[in-house]
Amino acid sequence: MTEQKAYSLVVIGGGAAGMMAAITAAREGCSVCLVERNEKVGRKLYITGKGRCNVTNHCSAQEVLAAVPRNGRFLYSAMNHTPPEFVEEFFRSLGVPLKVERGNRVFPQSDRSADVIDGLYMELRRLRVPILHARAKRLLSCEGAVTGVGTDQGVIFCKAVILSTGGASYPATGSTGDGYGMAEEMGHTIVPPVPSLVPLESPDPFCAAMQGLALKNVKLTVRNGKGKVLYQEQGEMLFTHFGLSGPLVLSASAHMREMGKESYRLSIDLKPALEEATLDARLVRELIANANRDMANVLGALAPRLMVPVLLERAEIPGERKAHDLTKGERRRLVEMFKHFTVQVRGPRPIAEAIVTSGGVKVGEVDPKTMASKRVSGLFLAGELLDVDAYTGGFNLQIAWATGRAAGEGAVQFLELGQH
Ligand SMILES: Cc1cc2nc3c(=O)[nH]c(=O)nc-3n(C[C@H](O)[C@H](O)[C@H](O)COP(=O)(O)OP(=O)(O)OC[C@H]3O[C@@H](n4cnc5c(N)ncnc54)[C@H](O)[C@@H]3O)c2cc1C
Repeated sequence: MTEQKAYSLVVIGGGAAGMMAAITAAREGCSVCLVERNEKVGRKLYITGKGRCNVTNHCSAQEVLAAVPRNGRFLYSAMNHTPPEFVEEFFRSLGVPLKVERGNRVFPQSDRSADVIDGLYMELRRLRVPILHARAKRLLSCEGAVTGVGTDQGVIFCKAVILSTGGASYPATGSTGDGYGMAEEMGHTIVPPVPSLVPLESPDPFCAAMQGLALKNVKLTVRNGKGKVLYQEQGEMLFTHFGLSGPLVLSASAHMREMGKESYRLSIDLKPALEEATLDARLVRELIANANRDMANVLGALAPRLMVPVLLERAEIPGERKAHDLTKGERRRLVEMFKHFTVQVRGPRPIAEAIVTSGGVKVGEVDPKTMASKRVSGLFLAGELLDVDAYTGGFNLQIAWATGRAAGEGAVQFLELGQH
């Protein structure tokens, strides 16, 4: 390894949390170096919100915490210090105008995630923060205090480190979970990383039969083994060759936190706007109007084409059954199928396909105000690397901004107080 220049602070990871941390520290006049393994910063940011980047959620700090199912209390201080309002103002001040959409989701007005990255990058440049494109391998410490970072391009000496290497999902973006090992070597406990906001696998063969079918305006309900409703929402979902995906399913998965231990039941209401009696009356009208046609044709007016054979099979009705021959019991089964189309769940897709990683550095070992490690002096942790994750809606990035800023300020304070 060749020896590199020394800085007061090294931030590892040029993602959302790391860039916010580096900007915060540099604005306080701290000599900071950002280490990012990719050629460009913010590669994951680039793909967020389907390329539009749902930057945050236009709501109060309290409402953000309500969207954090895991370790929300840990975020109390950071979120109140850096609420969405601060984040929105921060981006506007960087020259990134924002807009608020359905569900209070905040996006750049341009609908381009690249503008969010450019805003951050230009601010890093203005502040003259050097970006070293190297892969951090390990943290160096001496007598319980951080002394530097070993990278594949040499050692950087420093007095403080902010570790913000993200989780382990979408590894092609650079977030391969490197931070877990580095934190562990410093004495931290890693809560096993598991996928959240992730597509679901189903053993039901009809999912594959309907692959590619997107259902719009359906209501998805998730119940646990005891029948308790854990999630219920209306929106869009998708059948795939392995099971289920789409916005509703990703969101639902964040409520199914015991996959493997708990059994979950998914039920789709294909006609949420119609009460059962109204739907039955509608079906009767179709049957009368098409009395001599096959059921397979009749149902085409009420359900997507790919779904018709599945509905009939599950309701145990032969496709060639004439509408006028349909029994009362068969009609009842059909209505039941429309209102409660159940899908079994085997488990989540692998973590690489998850929008966020749940699990990570145990939050009890981190100071919630400054993000300082309680294990080693001069180490700070931020972003998805921590054992916190949220529902969809801009909340996960909001966590990255808030913890990144807390860590940046925490590190500056630590350096100013000469605690090293
Ligand atoms: C497809 C997709 C869409 C999403 N959409 C949204 C959305 O719209 N809104 C929202 O709130 N959240 C969204 N998320 C989640 C959000 O992107 C993450 O929660 C957030 O980016 C986490 O920020 P972070 O800085 O902690 O980690 P990351 O953004 O993952 O950044 C970590 C950085 O560290 C670098 N790194 C890793 N290891 C090393 C190493 N050893 N040395 C040097 N550098 C290293 C990586 O290259 C990476 O640049 C989405 C996620 C995905 C995958």
